[in-house]
Amino acid sequence: MAKRKTRGKAGIHRLAVAAFRVLTVFSIRGRFMLITGAGIPDMPSSSQPRRSSGTVQPEAPQPQKPAKNEYTLLVNRANPLTSDHVVETRSVTYNGQDSGKLFDVRVADKLEAMLNDAAAAGYPMYLVSTYRTIEYQRGLYNRKVNQYINSGYTQSAAETEAAKWVAPPGTSEHNLGLVADIVSSTWYNENNDLTQEFENTAHFAWLYEHCAEYGFILRYPKGKEGITGIAYEPWHYRYVGREVAKYIMENNITLEEFWEK
Ligand SMILES: [Zn+2]
Repeated sequence: MAKRKTRGKAGIHRLAVAAFRVLTVFSIRGRFMLITGAGIPDMPSSSQPRRSSGTVQPEAPQPQKPAKNEYTLLVNRANPLTSDHVVETRSVTYNGQDSGKLFDVRVADKLEAMLNDAAAAGYPMYLVSTYRTIEYQRGLYNRKVNQYINSGYTQSAAETEAAKWVAPPGTSEHNLGLVADIVSSTWYNENNDLTQEFENTAHFAWLYEHCAEYGFILRYPKGKEGITGIAYEPWHYRYVGREVAKYIMENNITLEEFWEK
């Protein structure tokens, strides 16, 4: 659903751009014909451009790739955090309550604004997980590895499989303090888990549509698993700053691609 939605949006955008180009070219030609025709008396009306009413629209601004900033640090298996990475966090408050969940102190207000606005729009969210220490991440990862070993995988195969779901310690974005796993409160109550079917909810649709306005991106999109190395996670939102977030979401790319291109 999310994929279709994404493509739908991109498709509409492409159509709009194409239509705009045609109009622009036509307008430019129209103007040119008007100018060249201005000094020619009795110019046959059939050669008058159809769009000569002066309704020339300004050229759409080409989306410029914004610069990297202090929030765009790439963390993945190939780019682990150094152990001396320091994060100053504070607890996030939303819906009038202290969640006890920690976020980078510099931008915790952005997450709070997103959650509060979502609730005000009729989509109350639940904050599942935010900042994790590298040690905590180690525990999560080892637990997942053991699950695979218990179901018959070798150590190395289990590590590979586990890493698709839980980042090895130091390689998780959650160690950055700029990430929030978000689902709707009802979703979490009913499922008590993060599952991909969350994408079929109106809460997800709200997050997908509005996250960039608050500086967040859907970090592990569907169809980009080969690039991120992480399974589709409709609940995982990463703060990168508003400009970069808009660029990434509008162009349907990942943070990896943002760094490459
Ligand atoms: Zn996450």
